[in-house]
Amino acid sequence: MKPSNQPIRVRFAPSPTGRLHLGGARTALYDYLLARQMGGKFILRIEDIDLKRFVPGAEEELMQGLRWLGLEWDEGPDIGGSCGPYRQSERKEIYLDHAQQLIARDKAYYCFCTPERLSKVRQEQQRSKSPQKYDGTCRKLDPVEAAKRVAAGEPHVIRFKTPKEGSITVRDHLRGDITVENRSIDDYILIRSDGFALYHLAAMVDDHLMDISHVIRGSEWLSTFPLHAHIVRAFGWQEPVWVHLSIFLKPSGKGKMSKRESAELIKDGYSIFVNDLEGLGYIPEAVVNWIALMGWSYDDHTEMFSLDDMIEKFSLERLNPAPAAINFTKFDHFNGLHIRNLSTQDLCKRVLPFFKSAGYQVDEKILLEIIPIIQQRITTLDDAPVVGGFFFEDTVHPKTEELIGAKMTAKESADALQVAYDLLSKLPVINIDTAEIPLRVLADQLHLKAGQFFGILRVAVTGRTVSPPLIESMAIIGKEKVLERIIYGIKMLEKMAT
Ligand code: GLU
Repeated sequence: MKPSNQPIRVRFAPSPTGRLHLGGARTALYDYLLARQMGGKFILRIEDIDLKRFVPGAEEELMQGLRWLGLEWDEGPDIGGSCGPYRQSERKEIYLDHAQQLIARDKAYYCFCTPERLSKVRQEQQRSKSPQKYDGTCRKLDPVEAAKRVAAGEPHVIRFKTPKEGSITVRDHLRGDITVENRSIDDYILIRSDGFALYHLAAMVDDHLMDISHVIRGSEWLSTFPLHAHIVRAFGWQEPVWVHLSIFLKPSGKGKMSKRESAELIKDGYSIFVNDLEGLGYIPEAVVNWIALMGWSYDDHTEMFSLDDMIEKFSLERLNPAPAAINFTKFDHFNGLHIRNLSTQDLCKRVLPFFKSAGYQVDEKILLEIIPIIQQRITTLDDAPVVGGFFFEDTVHPKTEELIGAKMTAKESADALQVAYDLLSKLPVINIDTAEIPLRVLADQLHLKAGQFFGILRVAVTGRTVSPPLIESMAIIGKEKVLERIIYGIKMLEKMAT
Protein backbone atom coordinates (compact mmCIF):
# COMPACT_ATOMS: atom_id res chain seq x y z
CA MET A 1 0.00 0.00 0.00
CA LYS A 2 1.07 3.55 -0.70
CA PRO A 3 1.60 5.79 2.30
CA SER A 4 -1.71 7.45 3.09
CA ASN A 5 -0.34 10.95 2.64
CA GLN A 6 0.57 10.36 -1.01
CA PRO A 7 -1.71 12.29 -3.37
CA ILE A 8 -4.08 10.06 -5.31
CA ARG A 9 -3.17 10.00 -8.98
CA VAL A 10 -4.84 7.50 -11.28
CA ARG A 11 -4.64 7.07 -14.99
CA PHE A 12 -6.80 5.65 -17.73
CA ALA A 13 -4.42 4.36 -20.36
CA PRO A 14 -6.27 3.17 -23.44
CA SER A 15 -4.62 2.08 -26.65
CA PRO A 16 -6.11 3.76 -29.69
CA THR A 17 -6.50 0.41 -31.38
CA GLY A 18 -10.26 0.18 -31.33
CA ARG A 19 -13.41 1.69 -29.93
CA LEU A 20 -14.15 2.62 -26.32
CA HIS A 21 -16.13 -0.29 -24.95
CA LEU A 22 -17.98 -0.82 -21.70
CA GLY A 23 -14.98 -2.48 -20.04
CA GLY A 24 -12.71 0.48 -20.78
CA ALA A 25 -15.38 2.93 -19.75
CA ARG A 26 -15.81 1.16 -16.43
CA THR A 27 -12.06 1.33 -15.75
CA ALA A 28 -12.10 5.04 -16.54
CA LEU A 29 -15.15 5.51 -14.32
CA TYR A 30 -13.52 3.86 -11.29
CA ASP A 31 -10.38 5.96 -11.88
CA TYR A 32 -12.49 9.07 -12.06
CA LEU A 33 -14.53 8.24 -8.95
CA LEU A 34 -11.45 7.54 -6.87
CA ALA A 35 -9.70 10.70 -8.03
CA ARG A 36 -12.72 12.92 -7.41
CA GLN A 37 -13.51 11.40 -4.06
CA MET A 38 -9.97 11.81 -2.78
CA GLY A 39 -9.29 15.20 -4.30
CA GLY A 40 -6.71 13.53 -6.54
CA LYS A 41 -5.99 13.69 -10.25
CA PHE A 42 -7.40 11.67 -13.12
CA ILE A 43 -4.95 11.36 -15.98
CA LEU A 44 -5.59 10.27 -19.55
CA ARG A 45 -2.62 8.61 -21.19
CA ILE A 46 -2.74 7.35 -24.72
CA GLU A 47 -0.78 4.13 -25.19
CA ASP A 48 -0.12 4.40 -28.89
CA ILE A 49 3.22 2.65 -29.27
CA ASP A 50 1.84 -0.34 -31.10
CA LEU A 51 1.82 1.37 -34.47
CA LYS A 52 0.68 -1.71 -36.35
CA ARG A 53 -2.59 -1.75 -34.44
CA PHE A 54 -3.12 2.02 -34.49
CA VAL A 55 -6.59 3.03 -35.70
CA PRO A 56 -6.92 6.60 -37.00
CA GLY A 57 -9.65 8.51 -35.21
CA ALA A 58 -9.70 6.12 -32.24
CA GLU A 59 -8.16 8.67 -29.87
CA GLU A 60 -10.79 11.26 -30.73
CA GLU A 61 -13.56 8.70 -30.27
CA LEU A 62 -12.14 7.75 -26.90
CA MET A 63 -12.09 11.31 -25.71
CA GLN A 64 -15.55 11.97 -27.02
CA GLY A 65 -16.89 8.88 -25.27
CA LEU A 66 -15.32 9.81 -21.93
CA ARG A 67 -16.65 13.35 -22.17
CA TRP A 68 -20.12 12.11 -23.03
CA LEU A 69 -20.04 9.97 -19.91
CA GLY A 70 -19.00 13.02 -17.89
CA LEU A 71 -15.54 11.70 -17.04
CA GLU A 72 -13.36 14.76 -17.55
CA TRP A 73 -9.65 14.25 -16.99
CA ASP A 74 -7.23 16.64 -15.28
CA GLU A 75 -4.14 15.90 -17.36
CA GLY A 76 -3.97 14.46 -20.83
CA PRO A 77 -2.68 14.81 -24.36
CA ASP A 78 -5.14 17.53 -25.28
CA ILE A 79 -4.87 19.64 -22.12
CA GLY A 80 -1.31 18.91 -21.04
CA GLY A 81 -0.15 18.74 -17.43
CA SER A 82 3.02 18.58 -15.41
CA CYS A 83 3.96 15.00 -16.40
CA GLY A 84 3.58 15.16 -20.17
CA PRO A 85 3.76 14.25 -22.91
CA TYR A 86 0.72 12.02 -22.44
CA ARG A 87 1.03 10.08 -25.67
CA GLN A 88 3.47 7.20 -25.46
CA SER A 89 4.52 7.69 -29.06
CA GLU A 90 6.04 11.00 -27.92
CA ARG A 91 8.03 9.35 -25.10
CA LYS A 92 10.23 6.98 -27.10
CA GLU A 93 13.53 8.41 -25.77
CA ILE A 94 12.34 8.23 -22.17
CA TYR A 95 11.75 4.48 -22.47
CA LEU A 96 15.05 3.89 -24.25
CA ASP A 97 16.85 5.78 -21.55
CA HIS A 98 15.16 3.71 -18.84
CA ALA A 99 15.92 0.45 -20.62
CA GLN A 100 19.56 1.48 -20.64
CA GLN A 101 19.37 2.22 -16.94
CA LEU A 102 18.21 -1.35 -16.44
CA ILE A 103 21.10 -2.65 -18.54
CA ALA A 104 23.49 -0.63 -16.39
CA ARG A 105 21.94 -2.26 -13.30
CA ASP A 106 22.33 -5.69 -14.89
CA LYS A 107 18.55 -6.06 -14.97
CA ALA A 108 18.22 -6.09 -18.75
CA TYR A 109 20.34 -7.08 -21.72
CA TYR A 110 20.72 -6.66 -25.45
CA CYS A 111 19.53 -9.59 -27.52
CA PHE A 112 20.65 -10.12 -31.12
CA CYS A 113 18.70 -13.26 -31.91
CA THR A 114 17.10 -13.09 -35.34
CA PRO A 115 13.40 -13.80 -35.83
CA GLU A 116 14.41 -16.95 -37.76
CA ARG A 117 16.42 -18.28 -34.86
CA LEU A 118 13.66 -17.50 -32.38
CA SER A 119 11.13 -19.27 -34.51
CA LYS A 120 13.35 -22.37 -34.62
CA VAL A 121 13.68 -22.28 -30.83
CA ARG A 122 9.90 -22.04 -30.57
CA GLN A 123 9.36 -24.99 -32.91
CA GLU A 124 11.82 -27.06 -30.92
CA GLN A 125 10.03 -26.17 -27.69
CA GLN A 126 6.72 -27.08 -29.23
CA ARG A 127 8.11 -30.44 -30.30
CA SER A 128 9.50 -31.19 -26.89
CA LYS A 129 6.37 -29.77 -25.22
CA SER A 130 8.48 -27.47 -23.07
CA PRO A 131 7.31 -23.93 -22.11
CA GLN A 132 7.51 -21.36 -24.89
CA LYS A 133 10.17 -18.96 -23.68
CA TYR A 134 13.27 -17.21 -24.82
CA ASP A 135 16.13 -19.68 -24.40
CA GLY A 136 18.51 -17.14 -22.85
CA THR A 137 21.26 -17.23 -25.49
CA CYS A 138 22.07 -13.50 -25.32
CA ARG A 139 21.55 -13.29 -21.56
CA LYS A 140 25.01 -14.78 -21.22
CA LEU A 141 26.78 -12.28 -23.53
CA ASP A 142 29.47 -10.06 -22.12
CA PRO A 143 27.80 -6.62 -21.73
CA VAL A 144 30.85 -4.80 -23.15
CA GLU A 145 30.82 -7.05 -26.23
CA ALA A 146 27.09 -6.57 -26.60
CA ALA A 147 27.41 -2.76 -26.38
CA LYS A 148 30.04 -2.89 -29.13
CA ARG A 149 27.72 -4.87 -31.41
CA VAL A 150 24.96 -2.33 -30.77
CA ALA A 151 27.34 0.53 -31.56
CA ALA A 152 28.27 -1.24 -34.80
CA GLY A 153 24.63 -1.13 -35.83
CA GLU A 154 23.65 -4.77 -35.35
CA PRO A 155 19.88 -5.20 -35.06
CA HIS A 156 18.82 -5.97 -31.49
CA VAL A 157 16.11 -5.82 -28.90
CA ILE A 158 16.39 -5.22 -25.15
CA ARG A 159 15.09 -7.94 -22.86
CA PHE A 160 14.32 -7.93 -19.17
CA LYS A 161 16.66 -10.13 -17.16
CA THR A 162 14.06 -11.94 -15.08
CA PRO A 163 15.61 -13.60 -12.03
CA LYS A 164 15.74 -17.34 -12.57
CA GLU A 165 15.75 -18.45 -8.98
CA GLY A 166 13.14 -18.09 -6.29
CA SER A 167 9.69 -16.61 -6.57
CA ILE A 168 7.98 -13.26 -6.48
CA THR A 169 4.96 -12.25 -4.45
CA VAL A 170 2.79 -9.47 -5.79
CA ARG A 171 -0.28 -7.96 -4.22
CA ASP A 172 -3.48 -7.30 -6.11
CA HIS A 173 -5.82 -5.13 -4.10
CA LEU A 174 -8.82 -7.36 -4.83
CA ARG A 175 -7.20 -10.76 -4.78
CA GLY A 176 -4.48 -10.42 -2.18
CA ASP A 177 -1.01 -11.89 -2.54
CA ILE A 178 -0.13 -13.85 -5.64
CA THR A 179 3.14 -15.81 -5.69
CA VAL A 180 4.75 -17.20 -8.83
CA GLU A 181 8.00 -18.99 -9.51
CA ASN A 182 10.45 -16.73 -11.31
CA ARG A 183 11.46 -19.46 -13.68
CA SER A 184 7.95 -19.40 -15.14
CA ILE A 185 8.43 -15.77 -16.21
CA ASP A 186 9.99 -15.12 -19.62
CA ASP A 187 12.76 -12.63 -20.39
CA TYR A 188 10.23 -10.33 -22.00
CA ILE A 189 11.22 -7.80 -24.64
CA LEU A 190 11.24 -4.25 -23.30
CA ILE A 191 12.47 -2.44 -26.41
CA ARG A 192 11.76 -3.76 -29.91
CA SER A 193 14.24 -3.74 -32.77
CA ASP A 194 12.65 -0.53 -34.12
CA GLY A 195 13.52 1.21 -30.84
CA PHE A 196 9.94 1.36 -29.56
CA ALA A 197 9.15 0.18 -26.08
CA LEU A 198 6.57 -2.45 -25.27
CA TYR A 199 3.77 -2.01 -22.76
CA HIS A 200 5.66 -3.82 -19.99
CA LEU A 201 8.34 -1.17 -19.85
CA ALA A 202 6.47 1.87 -21.13
CA ALA A 203 3.56 1.58 -18.73
CA MET A 204 5.79 0.96 -15.70
CA VAL A 205 8.04 3.93 -16.54
CA ASP A 206 5.05 6.20 -17.16
CA ASP A 207 3.23 5.14 -14.02
CA HIS A 208 6.36 5.98 -12.05
CA LEU A 209 7.14 9.28 -13.76
CA MET A 210 3.50 10.32 -13.61
CA ASP A 211 3.40 9.50 -9.87
CA ILE A 212 0.51 7.10 -10.25
CA SER A 213 -0.73 5.94 -6.85
CA HIS A 214 -3.24 3.30 -8.04
CA VAL A 215 -3.04 1.29 -11.24
CA ILE A 216 -6.60 0.23 -12.05
CA ARG A 217 -6.66 -1.95 -15.14
CA GLY A 218 -8.24 -4.98 -16.75
CA SER A 219 -7.58 -8.46 -15.46
CA GLU A 220 -6.01 -9.44 -18.78
CA TRP A 221 -2.87 -7.96 -17.20
CA LEU A 222 -2.87 -10.36 -14.26
CA SER A 223 -0.70 -12.88 -16.11
CA THR A 224 2.12 -10.38 -16.69
CA PHE A 225 1.59 -8.62 -13.38
CA PRO A 226 4.58 -10.42 -11.72
CA LEU A 227 6.82 -9.26 -14.56
CA HIS A 228 5.58 -5.69 -14.08
CA ALA A 229 6.34 -5.83 -10.37
CA HIS A 230 9.80 -7.18 -11.20
CA ILE A 231 10.44 -4.24 -13.50
CA VAL A 232 9.27 -1.68 -10.95
CA ARG A 233 11.41 -3.32 -8.27
CA ALA A 234 14.42 -3.52 -10.60
CA PHE A 235 14.36 0.27 -10.77
CA GLY A 236 14.02 0.44 -7.01
CA TRP A 237 10.71 2.31 -7.27
CA GLN A 238 7.80 2.15 -4.93
CA GLU A 239 4.92 0.10 -6.31
CA PRO A 240 1.50 1.59 -6.84
CA VAL A 241 -1.60 -0.11 -5.47
CA TRP A 242 -2.51 -2.62 -8.17
CA VAL A 243 -6.17 -3.23 -8.89
CA HIS A 244 -7.14 -5.73 -11.59
CA LEU A 245 -10.83 -5.46 -12.38
CA SER A 246 -13.21 -8.27 -13.15
CA ILE A 247 -13.88 -9.26 -16.73
CA PHE A 248 -17.16 -8.81 -18.57
CA LEU A 249 -18.94 -11.87 -19.90
CA LYS A 250 -21.59 -12.05 -22.59
CA PRO A 251 -25.22 -11.82 -21.40
CA SER A 252 -25.52 -15.61 -21.14
CA GLY A 253 -22.59 -15.54 -18.70
CA LYS A 254 -20.80 -18.06 -20.90
CA GLY A 255 -17.49 -16.66 -22.07
CA LYS A 256 -16.42 -13.28 -23.39
CA MET A 257 -18.28 -11.58 -26.19
CA SER A 258 -16.71 -12.16 -29.59
CA LYS A 259 -16.13 -9.39 -32.13
CA ARG A 260 -18.95 -10.71 -34.30
CA GLU A 261 -21.37 -10.93 -31.37
CA SER A 262 -20.55 -7.36 -30.34
CA ALA A 263 -21.15 -6.10 -33.88
CA GLU A 264 -24.48 -7.92 -34.12
CA LEU A 265 -25.92 -6.46 -30.93
CA ILE A 266 -26.78 -3.25 -32.71
CA LYS A 267 -29.58 -5.05 -34.55
CA ASP A 268 -31.37 -5.40 -31.22
CA GLY A 269 -30.73 -1.78 -30.29
CA TYR A 270 -27.80 -2.50 -27.98
CA SER A 271 -24.06 -2.01 -28.15
CA ILE A 272 -20.99 -2.48 -26.01
CA PHE A 273 -19.37 0.56 -27.64
CA VAL A 274 -19.89 3.80 -25.75
CA ASN A 275 -20.12 5.98 -28.82
CA ASP A 276 -23.07 3.98 -30.17
CA LEU A 277 -25.15 4.39 -27.05
CA GLU A 278 -26.20 8.00 -27.52
CA GLY A 279 -27.71 7.27 -30.91
CA LEU A 280 -29.53 4.26 -29.48
CA GLY A 281 -31.27 6.54 -26.98
CA TYR A 282 -29.30 5.75 -23.84
CA ILE A 283 -28.33 8.53 -21.45
CA PRO A 284 -24.91 8.80 -19.84
CA GLU A 285 -26.37 8.90 -16.32
CA ALA A 286 -27.73 5.39 -16.89
CA VAL A 287 -24.55 4.10 -18.52
CA VAL A 288 -22.30 5.08 -15.63
CA ASN A 289 -24.76 3.75 -13.08
CA TRP A 290 -25.08 0.42 -14.90
CA ILE A 291 -21.38 -0.16 -15.52
CA ALA A 292 -20.40 0.96 -12.03
CA LEU A 293 -22.49 -1.85 -10.60
CA MET A 294 -20.80 -4.43 -12.80
CA GLY A 295 -17.99 -4.96 -10.33
CA TRP A 296 -18.85 -2.61 -7.48
CA SER A 297 -21.67 -2.35 -4.98
CA TYR A 298 -22.41 0.12 -2.25
CA ASP A 299 -24.59 -2.11 -0.15
CA ASP A 300 -26.63 -5.03 -1.30
CA HIS A 301 -29.74 -3.14 -2.33
CA THR A 302 -29.18 0.47 -3.47
CA GLU A 303 -29.20 0.49 -7.24
CA MET A 304 -29.70 4.04 -8.39
CA PHE A 305 -26.70 6.34 -8.23
CA SER A 306 -25.84 9.61 -9.85
CA LEU A 307 -22.21 10.31 -10.67
CA ASP A 308 -22.07 12.58 -7.61
CA ASP A 309 -23.53 9.86 -5.37
CA MET A 310 -20.89 7.49 -6.63
CA ILE A 311 -18.09 9.98 -6.02
CA GLU A 312 -19.26 10.08 -2.44
CA LYS A 313 -19.89 6.36 -1.98
CA PHE A 314 -17.32 4.60 -4.14
CA SER A 315 -14.71 2.48 -2.46
CA LEU A 316 -12.04 0.12 -3.74
CA GLU A 317 -12.88 -2.18 -0.85
CA ARG A 318 -16.27 -2.97 -2.37
CA LEU A 319 -14.98 -3.94 -5.79
CA ASN A 320 -15.67 -7.52 -6.71
CA PRO A 321 -13.18 -9.53 -8.78
CA ALA A 322 -15.81 -12.08 -9.95
CA PRO A 323 -16.67 -11.88 -13.67
CA ALA A 324 -19.81 -9.87 -14.47
CA ALA A 325 -22.28 -10.78 -17.22
CA ILE A 326 -23.44 -7.85 -19.34
CA ASN A 327 -27.15 -7.55 -18.65
CA PHE A 328 -28.90 -5.33 -21.18
CA THR A 329 -32.29 -5.77 -19.51
CA LYS A 330 -30.75 -4.09 -16.48
CA PHE A 331 -29.37 -1.40 -18.77
CA ASP A 332 -32.88 -0.63 -20.06
CA HIS A 333 -34.13 -0.57 -16.51
CA PHE A 334 -31.47 1.97 -15.48
CA ASN A 335 -32.11 4.07 -18.55
CA GLY A 336 -35.82 4.24 -17.73
CA LEU A 337 -35.04 5.15 -14.11
CA HIS A 338 -32.68 7.94 -15.05
CA ILE A 339 -34.98 9.26 -17.78
CA ARG A 340 -37.74 9.59 -15.18
CA ASN A 341 -35.33 11.48 -12.99
CA LEU A 342 -34.71 14.24 -15.57
CA SER A 343 -36.44 17.59 -15.45
CA THR A 344 -39.02 18.32 -18.14
CA GLN A 345 -36.73 20.88 -19.76
CA ASP A 346 -33.79 18.52 -19.77
CA LEU A 347 -35.69 15.57 -21.22
CA CYS A 348 -37.21 17.88 -23.81
CA LYS A 349 -33.74 18.88 -24.98
CA ARG A 350 -32.60 15.29 -25.13
CA VAL A 351 -35.53 13.82 -27.06
CA LEU A 352 -35.68 16.66 -29.58
CA PRO A 353 -33.01 15.20 -31.91
CA PHE A 354 -34.84 11.86 -31.90
CA PHE A 355 -38.10 13.49 -33.02
CA LYS A 356 -36.19 15.33 -35.71
CA SER A 357 -34.42 12.28 -37.01
CA ALA A 358 -37.75 10.42 -37.07
CA GLY A 359 -38.85 13.15 -39.50
CA TYR A 360 -41.10 15.24 -37.25
CA GLN A 361 -41.32 18.99 -37.39
CA VAL A 362 -41.34 19.74 -33.75
CA ASP A 363 -42.98 22.66 -32.04
CA GLU A 364 -40.87 22.89 -28.88
CA LYS A 365 -43.71 24.42 -26.89
CA ILE A 366 -45.85 21.39 -27.57
CA LEU A 367 -42.93 19.07 -26.90
CA LEU A 368 -42.58 20.59 -23.44
CA GLU A 369 -46.26 19.86 -22.81
CA ILE A 370 -46.06 16.25 -23.86
CA ILE A 371 -42.90 15.41 -21.89
CA PRO A 372 -44.74 14.83 -18.58
CA ILE A 373 -47.12 12.35 -20.20
CA ILE A 374 -44.48 10.39 -22.11
CA GLN A 375 -41.70 10.46 -19.50
CA GLN A 376 -43.08 7.40 -17.68
CA ARG A 377 -43.56 5.51 -20.91
CA ILE A 378 -40.16 5.53 -22.52
CA THR A 379 -37.14 3.36 -21.86
CA THR A 380 -34.80 4.89 -24.38
CA LEU A 381 -34.94 8.35 -25.90
CA ASP A 382 -35.71 6.92 -29.32
CA ASP A 383 -38.97 5.57 -27.89
CA ALA A 384 -40.17 9.17 -27.57
CA PRO A 385 -41.14 9.74 -31.24
CA VAL A 386 -42.79 6.32 -31.31
CA VAL A 387 -44.88 7.14 -28.26
CA GLY A 388 -45.43 10.81 -28.95
CA GLY A 389 -44.94 11.37 -32.68
CA PHE A 390 -48.68 11.68 -33.33
CA PHE A 391 -48.72 15.03 -31.55
CA PHE A 392 -46.82 16.43 -34.49
CA GLU A 393 -48.80 14.77 -37.23
CA ASP A 394 -51.44 16.88 -38.97
CA THR A 395 -53.58 13.88 -39.58
CA VAL A 396 -53.45 10.31 -38.36
CA HIS A 397 -54.36 7.31 -40.41
CA PRO A 398 -55.48 4.51 -38.17
CA LYS A 399 -56.20 1.09 -39.58
CA THR A 400 -60.00 0.79 -39.87
CA GLU A 401 -60.07 -2.57 -38.10
CA GLU A 402 -58.32 -1.00 -35.14
CA LEU A 403 -61.08 1.60 -34.91
CA ILE A 404 -63.63 -1.08 -34.19
CA GLY A 405 -64.23 -1.47 -30.46
CA ALA A 406 -63.85 -4.83 -28.76
CA LYS A 407 -66.90 -7.06 -29.43
CA MET A 408 -68.52 -4.27 -31.52
CA THR A 409 -69.43 -3.82 -35.16
CA ALA A 410 -68.14 -1.05 -37.40
CA LYS A 411 -71.57 0.62 -37.28
CA GLU A 412 -71.73 0.54 -33.48
CA SER A 413 -68.22 1.95 -33.29
CA ALA A 414 -69.07 4.76 -35.72
CA ASP A 415 -72.16 5.60 -33.62
CA ALA A 416 -70.07 5.70 -30.45
CA LEU A 417 -67.61 8.05 -32.11
CA GLN A 418 -70.48 10.23 -33.29
CA VAL A 419 -71.88 10.74 -29.78
CA ALA A 420 -68.39 11.41 -28.49
CA TYR A 421 -68.07 14.03 -31.21
CA ASP A 422 -71.36 15.63 -30.22
CA LEU A 423 -70.27 15.85 -26.62
CA LEU A 424 -66.74 17.10 -27.25
CA SER A 425 -67.79 19.67 -29.82
CA LYS A 426 -69.94 21.36 -27.19
CA LEU A 427 -67.09 21.78 -24.72
CA PRO A 428 -65.22 25.11 -24.72
CA VAL A 429 -61.90 23.24 -24.43
CA ILE A 430 -61.00 19.60 -23.97
CA ASN A 431 -59.10 18.70 -20.85
CA ILE A 432 -59.31 16.42 -17.83
CA ASP A 433 -61.63 18.81 -15.98
CA THR A 434 -64.06 19.32 -18.81
CA ALA A 435 -64.07 15.95 -20.56
CA GLU A 436 -63.25 13.09 -18.25
CA ILE A 437 -66.51 12.71 -16.30
CA PRO A 438 -68.87 13.48 -19.21
CA LEU A 439 -67.11 10.89 -21.42
CA ARG A 440 -67.35 8.24 -18.72
CA VAL A 441 -71.05 8.98 -18.17
CA LEU A 442 -71.54 8.72 -21.91
CA ALA A 443 -69.86 5.33 -22.04
CA ASP A 444 -72.25 4.15 -19.33
CA GLN A 445 -75.28 5.44 -21.18
CA LEU A 446 -74.11 3.60 -24.28
CA HIS A 447 -73.67 0.44 -22.18
CA LEU A 448 -70.04 0.30 -23.19
CA LYS A 449 -67.13 -0.48 -20.96
CA ALA A 450 -64.77 2.45 -20.49
CA GLY A 451 -62.04 0.38 -22.18
CA GLN A 452 -64.19 -0.19 -25.29
CA PHE A 453 -65.26 3.41 -25.62
CA PHE A 454 -61.93 5.03 -24.88
CA GLY A 455 -60.22 2.45 -27.09
CA ILE A 456 -62.14 3.59 -30.16
CA LEU A 457 -61.53 7.23 -29.32
CA ARG A 458 -57.84 6.58 -28.72
CA VAL A 459 -57.32 4.99 -32.11
CA ALA A 460 -59.26 7.76 -33.85
CA VAL A 461 -57.42 10.58 -32.11
CA THR A 462 -53.88 9.20 -31.83
CA GLY A 463 -53.84 6.74 -34.71
CA ARG A 464 -52.59 3.96 -32.41
CA THR A 465 -53.88 1.43 -29.94
CA VAL A 466 -51.40 2.35 -27.24
CA SER A 467 -50.79 5.97 -26.33
CA PRO A 468 -50.14 8.29 -23.42
CA PRO A 469 -53.28 9.07 -21.36
CA LEU A 470 -56.02 9.90 -23.83
CA ILE A 471 -57.65 12.98 -22.39
CA GLU A 472 -54.31 14.63 -21.57
CA SER A 473 -53.26 13.86 -25.13
CA MET A 474 -56.46 15.40 -26.51
CA ALA A 475 -55.82 18.50 -24.42
CA ILE A 476 -52.46 18.96 -26.10
CA ILE A 477 -53.66 18.12 -29.61
CA GLY A 478 -56.45 20.72 -29.22
CA LYS A 479 -60.16 20.59 -29.76
CA GLU A 480 -60.15 21.41 -33.44
CA LYS A 481 -57.76 18.66 -34.49
CA VAL A 482 -59.37 16.14 -32.15
CA LEU A 483 -62.74 16.74 -33.79
CA GLU A 484 -61.26 16.48 -37.28
CA ARG A 485 -59.69 13.16 -36.40
CA ILE A 486 -62.94 11.83 -34.95
CA ILE A 487 -64.80 12.75 -38.13
CA TYR A 488 -62.16 11.01 -40.18
CA GLY A 489 -62.58 7.90 -37.99
CA ILE A 490 -66.35 7.96 -38.39
CA LYS A 491 -66.00 8.17 -42.16
CA MET A 492 -63.66 5.23 -42.27
CA LEU A 493 -65.97 3.14 -40.14
CA GLU A 494 -69.02 4.07 -42.16
CA LYS A 495 -67.28 3.13 -45.36
CA MET A 496 -66.59 -0.22 -43.86
CA ALA A 497 -70.12 -0.69 -42.57
CA THR A 498 -71.73 -0.05 -45.98
N1 GLU B 1 -3.03 0.24 -22.99
C1 GLU B 1 -3.47 -0.81 -22.13
C2 GLU B 1 -4.79 -1.33 -22.63
O1 GLU B 1 -5.48 -0.63 -23.37
C3 GLU B 1 -3.63 -0.22 -20.75
C4 GLU B 1 -3.57 -1.13 -19.63
C5 GLU B 1 -3.34 -0.34 -18.35
O2 GLU B 1 -4.27 0.33 -17.90
O3 GLU B 1 -2.24 -0.36 -17.85
O4 GLU B 1 -5.17 -2.42 -22.31
